Amino acid sequence: MPELPEMENYKKLLSQLVLDRTISGVKVGREKSINMDPQDFKNELVGRKIIFIERRAKYLIFHLDNGGRLLLHLMLGGMLYFGTDEDKPNRTTQVEIEFEDKTLYFIGLRLGYLHLLSAKQTEEALAGIGPELLDRKMDETKFIKLFVSRRGTLKTALVNQNIASGIGNCYADEIAFAAGLRPDVKLQDLTEEDLAGLYQAVRQVLTDAAEHGGYMEQPLTADDSLTGGFGDLCKVYDREGKACVTCGQPILRTVISSRKVYYCPNCQHGK
Ligand SMILES: [Zn+2]
Repeated sequence: MPELPEMENYKKLLSQLVLDRTISGVKVGREKSINMDPQDFKNELVGRKIIFIERRAKYLIFHLDNGGRLLLHLMLGGMLYFGTDEDKPNRTTQVEIEFEDKTLYFIGLRLGYLHLLSAKQTEEALAGIGPELLDRKMDETKFIKLFVSRRGTLKTALVNQNIASGIGNCYADEIAFAAGLRPDVKLQDLTEEDLAGLYQAVRQVLTDAAEHGGYMEQPLTADDSLTGGFGDLCKVYDREGKACVTCGQPILRTVISSRKVYYCPNCQHGK
């Protein structure tokens, strides 16, 4: 599932491609991916412009020039492509937003969705989601407060969107590795120093991954060489049996609360 770095990458690239361009057409291939009658959805969008793209947690919010918002969550298997029918991936699309010569394709929106909402409805939809970890308003003290009095394992806490937003299975494992902590370590056993180290790991991993285009395999456009650049830079995620980049020992895979977890038994420690 795309996480903060993947969505941040989409936001950055799409902001150079679709802003202030008039929407000339809309196609809906799967009614369940949107939140209204397809004809109404089309009528609402055609003639409008996207003036700003915001990312919150694992969501993208497309701000329209009439104050409306398109709220996108890709969930598992969702992806975006911006181009033409000739160069788009050979996949079924659930929604297409046309900008005269180019189209923004929403692919794999089976669990994911694109909802047209008012500003207030968008706010309500996102209520209860934990704070942004790369926001200027976040700092070490606030981060420690989010985690310090909680129970459970590091892995389940990192992916819990009600504590802090944007992290999923991949980056939770990468962050635990960067912090030198086992993903199954209990939060209540971590000291404030451990949590301070975890905060540094969070910032470093998420920033680095976003700058390298995240791990999505499908490029956003025909000439996009940035997206997916972090896929080969993952140090533990999906690397079971491969040598740890730091110590050479094989990476192990286990399961915590029915989530896959990858870690190095030599570089990462419990308490
Ligand atoms: Zn190692």
